[in-house]
Amino acid sequence: MAKYNIATIYGDGIGPEVARSSVRVLKNALGSDALHFEELPGGAEHYVDSGEVLPEDTFTACRDMDAILHGAAGLPGVTYEDGTEVGNDLHLLLRFKLDLYANMRPVKLLKGVTSPLAAFRDGGAIDYIIVRENTEGLYASRGAGVVLRGEIASDSLIVTRKGTERVARFALNVARKRNGAPRDGVSRLTVCDKANILRSFAFFRGICDEVSTDFPDVEIDYAYADAMTVHLVKKPDFYDVIVAENMFGDIISDLGAVTVGGMGVSPSGEIGDNHALFQGAHGSAPDIAGQDGASPVATILSSALMLDWLGERHDDTNLVEGANRIRNAVNAVLSAGEFIPRDLGGSARCSEMTEAICRALD
Ligand code: ATP
Ligand code: MG
Repeated sequence: MAKYNIATIYGDGIGPEVARSSVRVLKNALGSDALHFEELPGGAEHYVDSGEVLPEDTFTACRDMDAILHGAAGLPGVTYEDGTEVGNDLHLLLRFKLDLYANMRPVKLLKGVTSPLAAFRDGGAIDYIIVRENTEGLYASRGAGVVLRGEIASDSLIVTRKGTERVARFALNVARKRNGAPRDGVSRLTVCDKANILRSFAFFRGICDEVSTDFPDVEIDYAYADAMTVHLVKKPDFYDVIVAENMFGDIISDLGAVTVGGMGVSPSGEIGDNHALFQGAHGSAPDIAGQDGASPVATILSSALMLDWLGERHDDTNLVEGANRIRNAVNAVLSAGEFIPRDLGGSARCSEMTEAICRALD
């Protein structure tokens, strides 16, 4: 009997190939008994077939199982009856129904990957984690904005005490656990906002400050979002953990990802108090779907985040060791240079990357 049940939604586009690849790597890393993968339908293509994006059974399985592993969702041109895009609604529905409020995006330059930042090409350490608030901020207005008489449009930015406290606490705990790695043992949380311009952001900053008093071991630092984009290009090695409102977190995550090789190597975990969903930071990339050409690296690294989260939650060192073995295997393959995915300038197919990473696990 498997110890943990993983709700597995392949989804659309490259979703199935990268998710299948991760399942294979997880099985090889942990042996076939540790995890049971329950394959569940959902996404844009499933909507075309069935009229449902997130079937009730898929939702209950996601709610009741130990973690969710997702490929990607969304296909261009698939719309609801009212003409609006289905997009990655599968993912958004899960995010809100399961209250996955912290979106964790590690930004780490791996050996064998060339950063477009010349100053960091030769081993300068880019290794920080963005924690994006995932359920409120400006995106809370999604679908609820108003356009007045065709002249003025407006959306609302929502920042709540509860929402900010919990994401700040989450990020501070991430910083505490990293214990200053890799930066000389100094743990630092940078709060990314526009507290100088908008009250909602000043409120956000103030609450992060309050919560940080419970974490005297974590140094607190602030950056306005515009300046943050400069810093992440000029001195990314300064950063440890960054907490940001939803939209700013979205923007700086893409910026961070491109500095370490792009979406194809960037993992993501969306985490709440009782549930968590893991998938690569990229979308369903329909332009390259079905060609065995996607990089599975982002999803494989996301599945390592899943093992970290499960391992910590269940105090299971086997999982934590599995996560480290997976990361080591990815590093070994990329730094050896024989198998490099296409998005990083190589020619290895998704299946070849998967096999190479599985071999490197031993
Ligand atoms: P979303 O709306 O979900 O953010 P997006 O439109 O931003 O999606 P992505 O699917 O993230 O687009 O990808 C953008 C492009 O990057 C893709 O069209 C594809 O060419 C490339 N890409 C994304 N993910 C991968 C991957 N895993 N491997 C290789 N190339 C990728
Ligand atoms: Mg995008």
